[in-house]
Amino acid sequence: MAGLIRQQKLAVEVDFYGFALQDLDDTQVPLEYPEGREAGGAFLTAHEGRLDIESAGHTHTAAMTAEVWDGEPPTADDRGDWEEQAEAQLHSPSGELALWGVAAGNHNRYVTVHAYHPRGVNRALRAGVRCVEHGNLLDDDTIRLLLEHDAYLVPTLVTYDQMARFGKHAGMPEQSYRKIAEVHEAGLTALERAHRAGVNLVFGSDLLGPLQSAQLEEFTLRAQVQPPADILRAATTTAARLLRMEGEIGTLAVGACADLLVVDGNPLDDIRVLTRPEQHLRHVIKAGTVI
Ligand SMILES: [Zn+2]
Repeated sequence: MAGLIRQQKLAVEVDFYGFALQDLDDTQVPLEYPEGREAGGAFLTAHEGRLDIESAGHTHTAAMTAEVWDGEPPTADDRGDWEEQAEAQLHSPSGELALWGVAAGNHNRYVTVHAYHPRGVNRALRAGVRCVEHGNLLDDDTIRLLLEHDAYLVPTLVTYDQMARFGKHAGMPEQSYRKIAEVHEAGLTALERAHRAGVNLVFGSDLLGPLQSAQLEEFTLRAQVQPPADILRAATTTAARLLRMEGEIGTLAVGACADLLVVDGNPLDDIRVLTRPEQHLRHVIKAGTVI
């Protein structure tokens, strides 16, 4: 009699689509979900390296239970009276499975991914994500997909800059440190390419904890490849568009939130006016009130 070794339960957002279980090692999956997905197709379809599970059209969240058995598990017939049951085989060379969904952009929500390798970034863009954080290693396809889908890119140069500067000191392992250095260098080139191509760029840092104090450095880093006006747009109008808050934030207009910074100097001439608040920041106005 086979014994249950491990069980994992997950709530999977599927909306009106479905999800796939596929080998965690991408190279074992010739066609990555949702490519080749049959909309409204069979409940269960096996592809090489992946299993597609399709919603009947009224599911929002699927209750997914994965079990590992040390022998032949009990057959599905023992599991009660389901409307639909199916069996399929999946060979997973890596021994780990990842769950992929396509529930992006429904119900007025959108999805953002944090990724820097084009393989993951491009796949996410094809699946309909609205925004990519990092994107340091982007390629031509990434640029094309960002433009085609009117998606957004949030380069986070300062995060890598900080890690490259202080990672070694903070005890980061040599291998991770070298990887960071590589990604760090690519980040600036990626921003330049995206900027030239006219991609929607948004200001952000993704800095954690105490490193947040370095967030204004992102302005200085971007100024190496972008004119100040474009960096300001990334932090205001384009950011508002990403958040679907156009006309409310990131603009000086009647009806918008009166959140303003008054600085001594012209950031269009020198972006550093924004990075040295102790020297240049004169007033902060929040919801119409001077603070
Ligand atoms: Zn991130």
